[in-house]
Amino acid sequence: MSLDQNAPAAPATDGTAYPHLMEPLDLGFITLRNRVVMGSMHTGMEDGYRNLDDLAEFYATRARGGVGLIVTGGFSPTAAGMLYPGASVMTLRRHARAHRPITEAAHAEGAAILLQLLHAGRYAYHPLSVSASRIKAPINPFTPFALRGGQVWDTIEAFARSARLAAQAGYDGVEIMGSEGYFINQFLAPRTNQRRDGWGGSAANRRRLAVEIVRAIRAQVGPDFVIQYRISLLDLVPDGQPWAEVLDLATALEDAGVTIFNTGIGWHEARVPTIVTSVPRGAFVDVTAQLTRHVGVPVAASNRINMPELAEAVLARGDADLVSMARPFLADPEWVVKAGGGRADEINTCIACNQACLDHTFTGRRASCLVNPRAGHEREVVLTSAPTPQRVAVVGAGPAGMATATALAERGHHVDLYEANDHLGGQFALAMKIPGKEEFAETVRYFTRRIELTGVRLHLGKQVTVADLAEGGFDQVVLASGVTPRVLDLPGIDHPCVMSYAELLSGAREAGQRVAVIGAGGIGVDVCEYLTHVGHPSLNIAEWKKEWGVADPARPPGGLTEPAPAPSPREVTLLQRKPTPIGKGLGKTTGWVHRAALAAKGVRLVRGATYHRIDDAGLHITRLDREGRSVEQVIPVDTIVVCAGQESRRDLLEGLQSAGVSAQLIGGADVAAELDAKRAIDQGVRWAAQL
Ligand code: FAD
Ligand code: NAP
Ligand code: SF4
Repeated sequence: MSLDQNAPAAPATDGTAYPHLMEPLDLGFITLRNRVVMGSMHTGMEDGYRNLDDLAEFYATRARGGVGLIVTGGFSPTAAGMLYPGASVMTLRRHARAHRPITEAAHAEGAAILLQLLHAGRYAYHPLSVSASRIKAPINPFTPFALRGGQVWDTIEAFARSARLAAQAGYDGVEIMGSEGYFINQFLAPRTNQRRDGWGGSAANRRRLAVEIVRAIRAQVGPDFVIQYRISLLDLVPDGQPWAEVLDLATALEDAGVTIFNTGIGWHEARVPTIVTSVPRGAFVDVTAQLTRHVGVPVAASNRINMPELAEAVLARGDADLVSMARPFLADPEWVVKAGGGRADEINTCIACNQACLDHTFTGRRASCLVNPRAGHEREVVLTSAPTPQRVAVVGAGPAGMATATALAERGHHVDLYEANDHLGGQFALAMKIPGKEEFAETVRYFTRRIELTGVRLHLGKQVTVADLAEGGFDQVVLASGVTPRVLDLPGIDHPCVMSYAELLSGAREAGQRVAVIGAGGIGVDVCEYLTHVGHPSLNIAEWKKEWGVADPARPPGGLTEPAPAPSPREVTLLQRKPTPIGKGLGKTTGWVHRAALAAKGVRLVRGATYHRIDDAGLHITRLDREGRSVEQVIPVDTIVVCAGQESRRDLLEGLQSAGVSAQLIGGADVAAELDAKRAIDQGVRWAAQL
């Protein structure tokens, strides 16, 4: 897969391929063993100080995997700055003592570790939140109180106290969260800082909080302590910081004692996606390069860097001194040792889906990973050697089958994996055809390699039968035979204009100019993206920035300009029967991106539809008008794509039962409703872990 000019197509295969990435960084008082930073992730294990042992194991696993510098999830220096009631804080000596196992675990494995100090400001999800001004965030129901001048100084002191506690806990330094629209960022931008005292108004006043925090911390902790400041390069909101102010801030922070700049892109309330899978790899490295040239301390590039080829290219060009990645270490804790050992093709790549990490975090669940369900559950799901290796047949090489087969083989079982198609991936092989989901191909690449490495015997193009399984001498049979698209019981469903999403995406059929899509779940929305795009903007940084209105920050403040999406080549109507807003069931952190993309492409949305029939005139429906009255309508289309969910494929089950062979159902073959690859892979790995 060639993702853009930054990313060479073929993975590197020898250990010398990433010399810049593997080069140590001497900071004078501490040497980082390489240029790889594991960026801060709030996993949920930080909160309430109950799961710090799990958290220590989580970091130890990544440190063992070779990461140079780890940044913890965010800990607030004050109660008001907590993300939500009961969220993580670093305010007391007993907190520092509780962190000891974490720092010891990271150091024992050779990594340096920083505590992130995160004051949420107006993003705090509780009624006692505070900010520069009393202005509510569009993504939070709570309106913050504006801090009085004396309270601002108290908060600065609280940051310094937390940093001192971090030092007592054994941390090598702190990262100050100054980006993503949190508290410090709220003082920096005119959008949220409308104060008239010495903390607002001029740019110098607005940046004073950030500078005083760094000064106060440096005074508390002395010179031999890392102060990493996460600076917002592009706010991507109206009235964000002008670029000249960002550079002046960087200079002032450097003078105040910053050791490293980490970089952040976009506030949480920005309506431009910054980390989801449809954002091109390395989309914001050009802005990071401008900061790197401006300051004298090391700078870390971040956002949508997930594979070593790109990370190495960024460093080799001198665009940054370090590369910060977060989610890629959920997907693969061994990312660094694999890259360093010339085994990049073995990396389990983060596909930036957010399904098991950020979507979990924002719904109060522990962060994990769709492609690696062991992430965050290191002590719970363990793939130990099987006491008695068994012969196992796995039917179907979709996500469920691939994950089950490789996890079983890793434990020493003897596995035969059968797939009717001539390729791996199941429905995932269709998902990766969607513009903006090209990353999904990496998961298929990963499992292809994993199958080779674990010694799974793969039988492609083999439609396995009951007889094959009954006579194969297997101890266990796993049916991971997945799902088939639901066929609707609707007059005219056999009209030549009707096709399933599988027929469309596999290339077996082509859509015309006017298309109706029946079913507005994840697949219906994806099909609309497929129908309304020409090419793959997510593989082209310039094209993608034009689509979303991201500009060179030297021009509009905050880097935000008018989006100019390419027109859709088709007229598309997306329908569902429910009266609820279309796309409501999509991911918490990704749904809005899909809804915005459909709006930009002019997709017509119809909810509350009743389907009557299909004929040469088109799709006959009844729909609710704005007043809630039923209106009959014919949607004149030349293509109808059915995306009305799936049904489990279990055609072998009855025959196996009759033959006395018991079978384990995994993934879509088990339950089709609300199935996604997260559940399929998780179920497979957990089952394999206990066999
Ligand atoms: P499947 O993927 O259906 O795989 C079953 C496999 O079994 C198939 O390859 C089939 O050929 C094989 N098989 C069946 N019977 C036999 C037999 N008798 N012999 C041999 N082989 C057999 N999920 C997400 O989590 N996130 C997404 O963003 C996402 N996007 C999607 C986008 C699209 C366009 C599509 C189509 C799906 C998407 N999904 C997504 C859903 C995800 O792909 C499925 O949930 C997942 O693939 C189900 O995995 P599975 O292994 O259970 O079944
Ligand atoms: P889905 O989310 O269950 O949506 C199915 C759609 O079909 C719904 O809009 C449903 O809405 C409609 N429908 C169901 N039965 C119907 C019937 N008999 N007649 C007409 N319409 C019917 O399933 P999906 O879109 O097929 O996606 C499958 C899985 O893949 C989902 O669980 C999803 O999580 C996952 N996926 C995720 C993403 C992602 O970005 N995270 C993307 C793609 C897929 P109405 O009943 O209101 O009409
Ligand atoms: Fe990456 Fe998706 Fe895993 Fe999150 S769940 S770490 S985005 S692959």
